[in-house]
Amino acid sequence: MAQEDIFKKLVAHCKEYGYVFPSSEVYDGLGAVYDYGQYGVELKNNIKRYWWDSMVLLHENVVGLDSAIFMHPTIWKASGHVDAFNDPLIDNKDSKKRYRADVLIEEHIAKYEEKVEKEVEKARKRFGDRFDEALFRQTNPQVTVHVEKKDALVARLAKALNDNDLVELRQIIVDNQIVCPVCGTCNWTEVRQFNLMFATEMGSTAEGASKIYLRPETAQGIFVNFLNVQKSGRMKIPFGIAQIGKAFRNEIVARQFIFRMREFEQMEMQFFVRPGSELEWFRRWREIRMTWHQALGFGAASYRFHDHEKLAHYANAATDIEYRFPFGFKEVEGIHSRTDFDLTRHQEFSGKRMQYFDPELNESYVPYVVETSIGVDRMFLQVISAAYREEATDTGDTRVVLKLPPALAPIKLAVLPLVKKDGLPEKAGEIVQRLRLDFRCQYDEKDSIGKRYRRQDAIGTPFCITVDHLSLEENTVTIRDRDTMSQERVAIDRLPVILKEKTDLKNLLEQVAVGFRHW
Ligand code: ATP
Repeated sequence: MAQEDIFKKLVAHCKEYGYVFPSSEVYDGLGAVYDYGQYGVELKNNIKRYWWDSMVLLHENVVGLDSAIFMHPTIWKASGHVDAFNDPLIDNKDSKKRYRADVLIEEHIAKYEEKVEKEVEKARKRFGDRFDEALFRQTNPQVTVHVEKKDALVARLAKALNDNDLVELRQIIVDNQIVCPVCGTCNWTEVRQFNLMFATEMGSTAEGASKIYLRPETAQGIFVNFLNVQKSGRMKIPFGIAQIGKAFRNEIVARQFIFRMREFEQMEMQFFVRPGSELEWFRRWREIRMTWHQALGFGAASYRFHDHEKLAHYANAATDIEYRFPFGFKEVEGIHSRTDFDLTRHQEFSGKRMQYFDPELNESYVPYVVETSIGVDRMFLQVISAAYREEATDTGDTRVVLKLPPALAPIKLAVLPLVKKDGLPEKAGEIVQRLRLDFRCQYDEKDSIGKRYRRQDAIGTPFCITVDHLSLEENTVTIRDRDTMSQERVAIDRLPVILKEKTDLKNLLEQVAVGFRHW
């Protein structure tokens, strides 16, 4: 099935099974705003817990923060967002559709990459075991032509963005004959800058009200609290501050479900280090964050780093962790070495010192910062698109199953009496009572057992506990594994231990911890 069709099915599945609903649906929705349903909110909370614990539990020098969404408007002047948090937009005159000029070009670049991968796959099939991929990539004329064209385009785009050259951006689109994906024409307007911040007013009278912004990132709340946390927590450099919270961006194009939203949530960590040591820390965090993603078990081949050619004005190194979504490799997380830019600017604009006294060096300095920044919603989409499968079963039909990592699954187990009589529901009820304070459980007695298994597969419940007549005699149940569909008979008394072993978040955290045992 085409990847686009799979993505459409995934979106429909999220709605049908209570994961994600369009916001304000009864009023026909609100562009790029979504609500999380009964299972969605659980998955989202579990993702946040996984991130939070891997930051503040695994690192004694990383602490948390929860700063307000509203902040003093000068913060956004100092950070550069008022003047420079812009995206270049372009309209197609025929379809009247609006696009981000840089994204149109990036998608064109991705097409060259797809062509290369297709050639490689074709050759792999042709040559079988004798295939030398590295040699093929270096020498195959079709591949090298695509790579040359791609590299030239990447360099031209990076230069245009660095120079803020909007005329050149349009020219790149025209020269490469990039057409509107909706109407297929090349009838483009000029490229214009568009500021992404939402503004509102604070204060009750019109004259007294002042313009404030909904934060477009959570990071600035960390910067302006840097000294509060450092002093009150007696933190020594290097140390980090982690925060999870809402952010708002008036995105120009918001068409890929929860990939790009106007209201979304971020998980950000700013790590404060000695000047000069930032690139070493940047490398470490790059590895740690990739380990965190790969611990979920979706396969290393689905991830890659994308090192930035165009660095933001505040950064001296930056990379994205990209995941292979059904619509191609896309950014899930950014890791940036932000130098001392933000703290220095806040020092200038606020007139307050933003310095740290380093007792080992016996001197004060403005710390440098390495940031890791990931969208909760984008991570949610990553997890759910990796987990979504349509599988043929032995009985000849298909089952839809969400193969979520058990630690992230919204419901850990379902307790199902085989029939609705003979004392089985009561026995099942007792099991639920025993487990419900430790695990998110669901009790279900409606419909045939096969249908109930399918329902649990569709919401991603990793284990189904079935209570049958033998359960009454022997005090045992069967435990069915969602992924293999195999069943095992176990003593009811052992359930808490078995389930904890299989669903504990610790399983994931231990893998992440292995990655930096040498710290
Ligand atoms: P993009 O290039 O996709 O617009 P960005 O580089 O502007 O993203 P950052 O400012 O680095 O993104 O934000 C950090 C993370 O926040 C991103 O990696 C992404 O996971 C998430 N994020 C950013 N914008 C959105 C959005 N509009 N909707 C959902 N998540 C977002």
